[in-house]
Amino acid sequence: MTYPTQPTASHFINGRYVEDRDGAPIDVIYPATGEVIGQVHSATPVIIDQALDAARSAQAAWAAMTGTERGRILRRAADIMRERNHDLSVLETYDTGKPYQETSVVDATSGADALEYFGGMAATLTGEHIQLGEDWVYTRREPLGVCVGIGAWNYPTQIASWKGAPALACGNTMVFKPSETTPLCALKVAEILHEAGAPAGVYNVVQGLGDVGAALVSDGRVDKVSLTGSVPTGRKVYAAAAAGIKHVTMELGGKSPMIVFDDADVENAVSGAILGNFYSSGQVCSNGTRVFVHKTIKEAFLSRLSERLATAVIGDPQDPDTSFGPMVSERQMGIVMDYIAKGQDEGARLVYGGKRLDKNGFYLEPTVFADVTDDMTIAREEIFGPVMAVLDFEDEDDVMARANDTEFGLAAGVFTRDLARAHRVAARFEAGTCYINTYNDAPVEAPFGGSKQSGVGRENSKAAIEHYSQLKSVYVRMGDLEAPF
Ligand code: NDP
Repeated sequence: MTYPTQPTASHFINGRYVEDRDGAPIDVIYPATGEVIGQVHSATPVIIDQALDAARSAQAAWAAMTGTERGRILRRAADIMRERNHDLSVLETYDTGKPYQETSVVDATSGADALEYFGGMAATLTGEHIQLGEDWVYTRREPLGVCVGIGAWNYPTQIASWKGAPALACGNTMVFKPSETTPLCALKVAEILHEAGAPAGVYNVVQGLGDVGAALVSDGRVDKVSLTGSVPTGRKVYAAAAAGIKHVTMELGGKSPMIVFDDADVENAVSGAILGNFYSSGQVCSNGTRVFVHKTIKEAFLSRLSERLATAVIGDPQDPDTSFGPMVSERQMGIVMDYIAKGQDEGARLVYGGKRLDKNGFYLEPTVFADVTDDMTIAREEIFGPVMAVLDFEDEDDVMARANDTEFGLAAGVFTRDLARAHRVAARFEAGTCYINTYNDAPVEAPFGGSKQSGVGRENSKAAIEHYSQLKSVYVRMGDLEAPF
């Protein structure tokens, strides 16, 4: 099968596509049909070496350019990405199975937003002047060096861009490893950056599984590691980075709460619950999968939710009318089906869905459980699929304690018409990203990231600059220097 903008080889290194067929083959599987639509090869040690050497060699000259020059290249890449949005969205849909209805408005577009935002910011990065009497100190904001980005499979274009754009704006170079489940889109990000004028070696992509990621993280040429992935992988990558005292950004998993108070606009709360559980077939890290609904409105909420879920258009994700696509892989579908079985075994009430669809590809119905209790597996573990757990509550203090009773702290949401309560609840949430009467917005202007075990550092916004640069202090003596002897 051919599809638009098909990458021409497995890796992108030093400004060109590179192949090494000695690397283990990785099939590219279209989630909507289960068909193999391509193949890439895992990076061999030779390829890893080439990519890291290219990034290392390119870094000094890239950092020596002015911020305006670097930023112009990033903004040009943003323009190209927007011009090619249709083809890139089709490719993203082949890579992930997410409906074109989503990919055409979220993936390349949010990648372009990051390139534009950090492109604009590159020229504004400065140090400061600190006067000390007649002496003074100035700070230089310097890049970290070579950054490794490692991505999950749910947003391959976005993750490659969210990591690449701030890294490059600050004068770093990058070697990015996409998930082996979705290897295609990051190659296009590299190709576009190169076309926009990024010098060879500034942004490189290599394929592979966890072993390739691990080899990159532990390499002495690498100064910073930014991972988007699960908490267990985060622990391993953080530990490996710590051995070399490397900078890290960890964007990890969640089991986020969404609280719907009895004064909430039920229609909006249902919209929030749909956006926070079923977008991308539930494969979103910040999803509000523990939906605490006040007892007095629970049945109204559930019946409206079921009515609206029945209008989901499930089918061919390339059809613009389709609003709900397959899971990314057979493996992920199996994991989610096991959780659905556990929910039923542990006594939750299945209100909607729960089954695999009788068609090719990895399709599961959107699934809702009610009468879920805090101790059930589906209320404690990240499922990463279209499974919503609805829990009852009556009292604000009680629900806050329950909402925060988790190792995760990625996101949290509240639906209420009571302004004071909305802000009180947001302040009490133990989470990096909170929503009031909305859910899962992630504009590039706002910091995004987790607290507790959901992560370290922040992506997007001015905050990301702190994670891709470091300050050097330069002390300047204007007069004679005294010494004790
Ligand atoms: P994984 O943690 O399984 O993998 C993430 C990436 O790390 C993949 O590229 C993987 O390679 C790689 N990897 C695995 N082991 C190692 C290792 N020892 N050293 C270096 N790299 C390694 O996550 P998934 O891809 O399954 O994605 C789902 C997870 O990502 C969920 O937990 C989700 O919450 C989280 N996520 C977090 C987001 C956030 O911003 N906070 C956003 C999106 C997802 P490979 O898979 O190819 O073997």
